[in-house]
Amino acid sequence: MRKITIIGGGQSGLQLGIGLLQAGHQVRIVQNRDAADIASGRVLSSQCMFDQAVQNERDLGIDFWADTCPPVEGIAFAVPAPDGSGKVIDWAGRLDRPAYSVDQRVKVPRWMAEFTRLGGQMVIADAGIAELEHYTRSDDLVIVASGKGEIGKLFARDAAKSAYDKPMRALALTYVTGMEPRAEHSAVNFNLIPGVGEYFVFPALTTSGPCEIMVFEGIPGGPMDCWAEVKTPEQHLAMSKRILDTYLPWEAERCRNIALSDDNGILAGRFAPTVRHPVATLPSGRKVLGLGDAVCLNDPITGQGSNNASKAAAIYLRRILAHGDRTFDEAWMQGTFDAYWDYAQWVVGWTNMMLLPPPPFILNIMGTACIEPRLARRIANGFNDPRDFFPWFADPAAAEAYLDDLKAA
Ligand SMILES: Cc1cc2nc3c(=O)[nH]c(=O)nc-3n(C[C@H](O)[C@H](O)[C@H](O)COP(=O)(O)OP(=O)(O)OC[C@H]3O[C@@H](n4cnc5c(N)ncnc54)[C@H](O)[C@@H]3O)c2cc1C
Repeated sequence: MRKITIIGGGQSGLQLGIGLLQAGHQVRIVQNRDAADIASGRVLSSQCMFDQAVQNERDLGIDFWADTCPPVEGIAFAVPAPDGSGKVIDWAGRLDRPAYSVDQRVKVPRWMAEFTRLGGQMVIADAGIAELEHYTRSDDLVIVASGKGEIGKLFARDAAKSAYDKPMRALALTYVTGMEPRAEHSAVNFNLIPGVGEYFVFPALTTSGPCEIMVFEGIPGGPMDCWAEVKTPEQHLAMSKRILDTYLPWEAERCRNIALSDDNGILAGRFAPTVRHPVATLPSGRKVLGLGDAVCLNDPITGQGSNNASKAAAIYLRRILAHGDRTFDEAWMQGTFDAYWDYAQWVVGWTNMMLLPPPPFILNIMGTACIEPRLARRIANGFNDPRDFFPWFADPAAAEAYLDDLKAA
């Protein structure tokens, strides 16, 4: 039995902590908010998770919402015509297996209860350097899974792996009820408004039941970077509707009767996508290992953060269990992150590409998907495992070769 402390009980920390408890280890999670505070607080994410990530939860028996969370059955993509006459690109692809979005205000408190039920020690406190020193003295391993929390700055930014040093989008979330369901099948409806930003929307489960989550990604300084003037939930909802009325009439049409899921069903903010060195050295010289957003923070434009957090937690769990009773030294920590980075580098590369204006070969791929359902389906399922986008989504020559093959087949 190893003694392990995890700072931060979000997607990655709780998933890993529960997996470790199930394997018989002694686990403490230090979480700076209690369950009631999280459940009654502001939304944290849009947390759409694709099948591979959901499978990690099924494997641990903690997918408690399989019967109540509305499924996301596909990905749809649209680009409005510049003259407002409709859509110049418009397609939808089915996911082979559905995605799900369970509001973290629902998931995290339930997982905290499960962690405690399994015998885990839940400490409600804001961990700082002194606490890290304390836990590294007594435990075999200390993992920092603090998301965007300040303590994550302990890990130095890795400039070689971080493409940007400033926020690339002004973000906003609006959780609503009463939206007209998408025709045909449910989906992440992704709209790219050139020069303005992106809007996507999909069904989810929130504290009061099913809802739709509206996600706004505004290019900084552009017309969708408009949330600073919004002061109340009512104004936030009105701004959300105004953006759709202005740029995306087909989405506005679905929103005639929407209402906020609750006054805390809104969020606005921005952050710089950042990859950090995964091992930090405390003043004592002892080491801690970073996990999830703390060391690999992506813009939500591709909806990958919770997926990454889940996949990282699954890899860390396997690595810890395979390590037996050996010391968790710096080489093991770096090797554990590297095993995750083998996967995550593709997600980060794809996500960072999506934050730039699409080059002509990407527009060609997206346009071809309108008439080629196999391509639409492949792009949709790439959200489940973005490694499949390479090299054809990243390189003009590979894209041309792939599209030629597709036409010939
Ligand atoms: C607007 C928006 C939309 C998003 N949409 C999606 C999406 O559709 N799909 C997707 O996959 N991802 C999405 N994400 C990203 C996703 O929410 C995160 O990547 C994911 O939650 C990261 O998990 P984590 O475990 O690393 O951190 P978190 O889930 O953030 O958990 C960190 C926990 O640590 C706690 N903590 C922080 N500091 C301390 C401390 N010092 N001491 C103790 N506790 C501490 C925090 O309170 C929190 O509970 C979105 C994010 C945003 C902002």
